[in-house]
Amino acid sequence: MTDLLRISHLVARHGLLNAVRDVSLTVADGETVALVGANGAGKSTLLRTVAGAHAAAEGTVTFDGDDVTDLEAHRRVARGLALVPEGRKLFPDMTVEENLLVAGRRARSGPWNVDTVLDAFPLLRPMRHKRAGSLSGGQQQATSIGRALMTNPRLLLLDEVSLGLAPVAVDTVYESLTTLIRDGATVVLVEQDLSRAMSVADRVVCMLEGLVALDARVGHVTREQVTDAYFGLGRTGSETAAPVDAPAAHPSPERT
Ligand code: ATP
Repeated sequence: MTDLLRISHLVARHGLLNAVRDVSLTVADGETVALVGANGAGKSTLLRTVAGAHAAAEGTVTFDGDDVTDLEAHRRVARGLALVPEGRKLFPDMTVEENLLVAGRRARSGPWNVDTVLDAFPLLRPMRHKRAGSLSGGQQQATSIGRALMTNPRLLLLDEVSLGLAPVAVDTVYESLTTLIRDGATVVLVEQDLSRAMSVADRVVCMLEGLVALDARVGHVTREQVTDAYFGLGRTGSETAAPVDAPAAHPSPERT
């Protein structure tokens, strides 16, 4: 597999805070990478910086062989980079179909259109003409993912798709995501539920305080090693795990 995304020594700041400190990471074509880590570890900032929604302070983002570090977000979308942001950010007064069509206006050519999105997310079909603001959390999340698909992305960046959803809605959204992944989509997925993340991903990357604490193939790393990296509990013994010395300040819902 060739690298579709290559992140090299990336630094991203919020004011004086280095939220992403020195991250290097690759994502191969067709690969699914789960990005995990405690609250505040820098996952959302990393995804937003890759998508062009946040400026890189240092380092580079290379997509499909081209340096896109300074490219505006909409130009990255045109090249096939799509972000599903935390919090969905739909147009609440527009219908599901209108939300999808807005995203598809200047889309790359490819398999995704309103009908194929509704096929992929059957829960949206009866809601097609309903206002996005009137949908359940799961339906809104599906619309948000569908909106990203409408751009016919080559890489889908998903930020906490299960956040705030009822368990049954999470199952439904993941059912569709699993099909996408099986069909060969390239995905970076921020997910708090470690078991779920490891069940869909080829690789797991754990961030701790703005750094990559662990980067390993699922199957080559135990859940305990990932949890240790999550909490900064020493070396994980994984393929490319960096030494981690400081204990993380944030508790994990997964720890118990
Ligand atoms: P979460 O799971 O809580 O979203 P995360 O791993 O995605 O966490 P980020 O949201 O990237 O982490 O946050 C990394 C750091 O940057 C945190 O210390 C956070 O408080 C800070 N931060 C994030 N967004 C902003 C912002 N808009 N302004 C200032 N600081 C921010």
